[in-house]
Amino acid sequence: MSAVKTRFPPSPTGHLHLGGARTALFNWLFAKHHGGAFLLRFEDTDRERSKQEYVDSIKEALEWLELFWDEGPYFQTQRLEIYADYAQKLFKEGKAYYCECSPEVLEEKRKKALAEGRKPKYDGTCREKGLGPGPGRVLRFKCPQTGTTVVEDLIRGAVAFENQELDDFVLVRPDGIPTYQFAVVIDDLTMGITHVIRGDDHLSNTPKQILLFEALGATPPKYAHVPMILGPDGSRLSKRHGALSILAYRDEGYLAQAMRNYLVRLGWSYGDQEIFTLEEMIEKFDLSRVSKSPARFDPDKLLALNAHYIRQEDTERLAEMVLPFLLRLGIKIDNPKDEKFLKAVESVKPRARTLKEMAEMMAFYFVPEVEYEEKAARKFLKPDILPVLEELLDALKNMPAFEEKALEDLFRGLAEKHQLKLKHVAQPVRVALTGRTVSPGLFEIMDILGKETVIKRLEKALQHIREAS
Ligand code: GLU
Repeated sequence: MSAVKTRFPPSPTGHLHLGGARTALFNWLFAKHHGGAFLLRFEDTDRERSKQEYVDSIKEALEWLELFWDEGPYFQTQRLEIYADYAQKLFKEGKAYYCECSPEVLEEKRKKALAEGRKPKYDGTCREKGLGPGPGRVLRFKCPQTGTTVVEDLIRGAVAFENQELDDFVLVRPDGIPTYQFAVVIDDLTMGITHVIRGDDHLSNTPKQILLFEALGATPPKYAHVPMILGPDGSRLSKRHGALSILAYRDEGYLAQAMRNYLVRLGWSYGDQEIFTLEEMIEKFDLSRVSKSPARFDPDKLLALNAHYIRQEDTERLAEMVLPFLLRLGIKIDNPKDEKFLKAVESVKPRARTLKEMAEMMAFYFVPEVEYEEKAARKFLKPDILPVLEELLDALKNMPAFEEKALEDLFRGLAEKHQLKLKHVAQPVRVALTGRTVSPGLFEIMDILGKETVIKRLEKALQHIREAS
């Protein structure tokens, strides 16, 4: 067999969604597994709906997922001459014919067929008319009307189609633009595609495409149709879950490797292994392990996987990654390699499930003024704690340096003296320093904030209590 070549051929009429991204990933992995090439092609013959904006965003999403293409991107609208040549060849060989049936007449016949419970199908009116090209005429494929076309699907096995069920489908429209069915075959043929891996919504197109390959005297590629992705409740994927653009996940703070890992498990499995490095995916990916039944999108699992990848990620790299999310909160970090900044990242790394969450969790370190969550302030910044906090503030001012051990001793001593539990001292301080009741370890954050900021924030909390009482 010649070297494997796969393709991803999106129509640039929308952003790249979960399903498309999975198709791209499977094609990419299959090619890489076999040491082959992966090609990107834009099927932009629908000029009305195709937009440069979508070309850009699809490329951006693939690049984000690191699914780099070895060839392309090709654009079908730049290949019109090639399709015209092949159309002429089929016409000259009597394998395609021109048809002058008007859309209105065809529509009438279609309605009639439906009303009579027949499958609508072109009735072959122009099949033997011997028409040449002309205004308003389409070129149709002279589809064999007998026999069977078998799709030897690499996932589902053999699927047979009766040729008489297929109709003389259109290859070229009156304006000279090829249909999807025709352009895809000419592209797959001329680009040397060996394997077509795509959603099973295309299965019914495959016999037509195989017959076209045969009419051109060529061997079709091998086909694999991947079952669709359903929503968490088993219904179609909706906007709410999963029909989101892949870039929306990036913008929500998902890591590319988590997304890839999640996508690969949508319909493919390797024993009960859940976590795969990219190298492992390439090594293990195989169409025989793709499930024959639909996959279900589970946003909680994606989130858990993302949390896993955040915990695994190198802190310095995370520090870089979280910068744009902090910026969105109005926090600009001048030096992401700064030791305190890295410590701040480290302190939220075990808890954050997305980079966005991470930025929100660590924002308190950098804001000029802490804002108290209302409930937190009401519960913990109360007059009864005032004497304790005043004493704490004095002691902190006299501490030469903030060391975790010394801080802990101080807090414990204070709690004991006032006959309180440690948490009764710690929580008000936590609210004073972070505005919230949940945060990384208190002594850890005191170390990161530094003496000056801690003192400033405690003074502000004291003031708040005095004013509120
Ligand atoms: N442009 C088609 C789509 O986006 C490609 C189908 C195929 O893989 O042949 O669905």
